[in-house]
Amino acid sequence: MSGISLKKLRKTYGALTVVHDIDLEIADKEFIILVGPSGCGKSTTLRMIAGLEEISAGELYIGDDLVNDVPSKERDIAMVFQNYALYPHMTVYKNMAFGLQLRKAPEAEIEKKVRETAKTLDIEHLLNRKPKQLSGGQRQRVALGRAMVRNPEVFLLDEPLSNLDAKLRGSMRTAITKLHRQLDSTFIYVTHDQVEAMTMADRIVVMKDGYIQQVDTPQALYDHPINMFVAGFIGAPQ
Ligand code: ADP
Ligand code: MG
Repeated sequence: MSGISLKKLRKTYGALTVVHDIDLEIADKEFIILVGPSGCGKSTTLRMIAGLEEISAGELYIGDDLVNDVPSKERDIAMVFQNYALYPHMTVYKNMAFGLQLRKAPEAEIEKKVRETAKTLDIEHLLNRKPKQLSGGQRQRVALGRAMVRNPEVFLLDEPLSNLDAKLRGSMRTAITKLHRQLDSTFIYVTHDQVEAMTMADRIVVMKDGYIQQVDTPQALYDHPINMFVAGFIGAPQ
């Protein structure tokens, strides 16, 4: 069980508060998307959940566990960033298998998992290539695959498609939605792209200046934005 609760979660840098005591309940296996303009605190929130950023105040629960002080590597979480780095000297297969090999999983199990994941992402035919022999979109698929073979309970994605061209973004949206259905993981996805949010999310969290403005399904946000900011951001008639 990996529902996630943010209770009055706050982040300050010196005198500056960038996340203001936000409350959010994310259900187990939900696909939740944080949206909002640049600088509104999306990445900071995600990084606190990942354990990559210290929590200034409030409580963070993963399942029933208070994890404020649990180190990142002890949380069952995988994260994919916008600037993904593959190991350049390793094949795609090795890039994807490496994390499992470090954990000493049996080789047959690793191969099964890598091939299954590669199939879902449509990169089976690339397993013997090196990263420099791949296009940007293919590399991004490998980066996703590498994170996903671990079967994390919680999967965090920070603007994973923002370096891709529009056409590729479309096909990657489909691939990620498919992975979410297959994986049994809770997905928390950050973007400033309304189309991604509206088409992929179970629920959208709209943020502004470190505050949550509204949390609801894409349809409900579209039909009933609570203020002009949400309406403008979601693109509904104002
Ligand atoms: P977003 O991901 O929504 O674009 P961020 O979470 O990256 O926004 O940043 C939120 C705010 O926190 C921004 O105003 C940013 O300048 C500030 N910020 C982020 N990291 C630091 C830091 N290490 N020191 C000071 N301010 C920071
Ligand atoms: Mg960001």
